[in-house]
Amino acid sequence: MAAKQPGVTVRAPAKVNLCLGVGPVQGDGYHPLATVFHAVDLTDTVTVRPSKRWECTVTGPYADRVPTGGSNLAMRVAQRLADECFEAGPVSMTIDKSIPVAGGMAGGSADAAAAIIAIDQLFDLQLTKLDHQELATDIGADVPFILAGGTALGTGRGDQLAPVLTTGRYEWVFALQDDGLSTPAVYAEFDRLNKGRKVPLPQAPEEMIAALRSGDPRELAGALSNDLQEAAISLMPKLQKTIDTGLAEGALGAIVSGSGPTVAFLCADRAAALDLMVGLTASGVADDVVSAGGPHPGARVVSNIRTV
Ligand code: ATP
Repeated sequence: MAAKQPGVTVRAPAKVNLCLGVGPVQGDGYHPLATVFHAVDLTDTVTVRPSKRWECTVTGPYADRVPTGGSNLAMRVAQRLADECFEAGPVSMTIDKSIPVAGGMAGGSADAAAAIIAIDQLFDLQLTKLDHQELATDIGADVPFILAGGTALGTGRGDQLAPVLTTGRYEWVFALQDDGLSTPAVYAEFDRLNKGRKVPLPQAPEEMIAALRSGDPRELAGALSNDLQEAAISLMPKLQKTIDTGLAEGALGAIVSGSGPTVAFLCADRAAALDLMVGLTASGVADDVVSAGGPHPGARVVSNIRTV
């Protein structure tokens, strides 16, 4: 085992689901999805250095809510590659976390995707794109999209991806809550709310795909949808007030991001996003408010550290 350089830093984006169609639970416990993922420039930064022992340090505003052992998805990637690849070994990892934890923005998946790229480069494993994708799918259904970035249609468990043509850049404001929502708990609530109803298989989101091609944020706002929103609001009723407040403050559209509790607001432009941030902050309907634009590229190396 020999690292080819003293360290590698990779940045990976958060995602918002512009539409999230959820089908009936299957025998394996999973729900078939038809979703449009959109990566935004709210990012985590993962640095790995070769080390004699496994170490993980998390920094940033959400650090105290992130595990640092083997249950950390980025550490799981690193340990798995050390087990499977002769060239790889223990690392000291630092995760600078800006993506909210358990916020429905795929923060853990972002760190896992970053770790795949970082460990490959650190130990010069020369993994193929297919190797990356297979490992990503194994770690979690959102990880392949974070590797790819941009805007993509996800089917199956969300891991079968096809890029979606997108015109322009979209400005978002995210209303964050200190309390997270567990993704399995939101799906369980979805199943409870739909008991006795016939849940259809999710359809290809034609309206959303046309809106993204148009580049018009108003058209996009009209096409936002999330089948998990009712379940997320059922578990955290205050999200409805957050949505109503953001719309009253001038957002073009609002949607719970993935399984929540983050609420994503689409704005007409950057100036409108800044105004909305002020309005949401003053209203007190969120614990924190951040802005970000999309689409953004997937996990990318930002620096190779050349000195120890
Ligand atoms: P998704 O949108 O993919 O459903 P999420 O954004 O709602 O996910 P995460 O931030 O990925 O949720 O975190 C979910 C749980 O995963 C956390 O409560 C935490 O215990 C665990 N976890 C493991 N690794 C990480 C990581 N690197 N960053 C954040 N959470 C992690």
